[in-house]
Amino acid sequence: MEGEDCIICSPAPGSLLLRESRGVVLLDDPVRVGHVLVGASEHVDGLHDLPPAVAGDVLSLAADMAAEIVGLTGAEKAYVAAVGDKDKHFHVHLVPRYAGDAGLGPHIFGSSGWVGTFGSDPSAVTAEDLHARLSR
Ligand SMILES: [Zn+2]
Repeated sequence: MEGEDCIICSPAPGSLLLRESRGVVLLDDPVRVGHVLVGASEHVDGLHDLPPAVAGDVLSLAADMAAEIVGLTGAEKAYVAAVGDKDKHFHVHLVPRYAGDAGLGPHIFGSSGWVGTFGSDPSAVTAEDLHARLSR
């Protein structure tokens, strides 16, 4: 997925908004006005592969872009989401939330969102396993 096949390494004509040292900002089929993608400068598949400094750069750039989007559109804030199912170059989506929009939290965490999509947890890893691994 690297190189010419990657929408962030090789953005479609007219989709690139900004390329700078911290990352890349582009449009890719925006779901609403102000929806942009903010990606790492270098091709990295997912969050689990990001070096900490690159993660900091991407989030810093995303925060600056969120401030621009809020200032330009009058949105209340910008949601940030990283999914990575389709394009395997780490990026986050910034999606503005406007006054009067329904909250996404109840949808994402409700029966029509993640709970309804994922069903029961197929993982054999327990919360105690995670706690033991992560609390160092
Ligand atoms: Zn790429």
